[in-house]
Amino acid sequence: MEQINLSAQHLARLIGDVLDLASSEAGQLHILHELIDLAEVLHMAAKIGEELAYEKGLAWSMELPERGPWVTGDRTRLRQITLNLISNAVKFTPEGQVRLEVSVEGNEVTVSVSDTGIGILPDEQNTIFNEFYRSQNAVQSGYGGLGLGLAISKQLIEKHGGTIEVHSPGKLGNGSTFSFRLPIVSEIHSPLESPVLGLKPAIW
Ligand code: ADP
Repeated sequence: MEQINLSAQHLARLIGDVLDLASSEAGQLHILHELIDLAEVLHMAAKIGEELAYEKGLAWSMELPERGPWVTGDRTRLRQITLNLISNAVKFTPEGQVRLEVSVEGNEVTVSVSDTGIGILPDEQNTIFNEFYRSQNAVQSGYGGLGLGLAISKQLIEKHGGTIEVHSPGKLGNGSTFSFRLPIVSEIHSPLESPVLGLKPAIW
């Protein structure tokens, strides 16, 4: 039953990625623009990430605030991006650890997922975000995959007004760190305050 469940989840993700790609090519990849407590989204993703890491025998660590920062965007899409980075980190890490971290600098928040896995060669660190691209390290080490998750994540992050990048020394075992940056909504003074700035849920 567990195997069937896992295969179904895998298939659902593949179908979701292909549909997102088709939507994007048709100019129809839309996101909501709602006021979001980023910590809430990340804690949800972290629960799944922790389980994935432990199932594979990897250590899991994280540094997340209880609440905030607040951003505008689509909570389902932000969870999808974070989960994509975490599940890649688990997938491409045979041993060691996966870490989820949040830091705030000025009016920007950075969410980073680091691992101690197979890494990505320096000259592939841009092309890795292209559709259907799979790294030499991944192909040589026998990993499967379509190479769509990062391409879709990049498009979604850019629709949130953010950026995504990877840092990796490129050597097997030295790992990678994927980070995305988003602008913070600074006008919210208290987490209990209702949405300001006329931010109604809207599809852009
Ligand atoms: P998939 O994982 O299905 O191949 P992605 O678009 O998520 O698709 O990733 C594209 C490629 O980027 C992967 O095939 C792999 O080569 C590389 N990659 C992504 N995340 C990592 C990671 N954490 N460590 C090493 N390589 C990675």
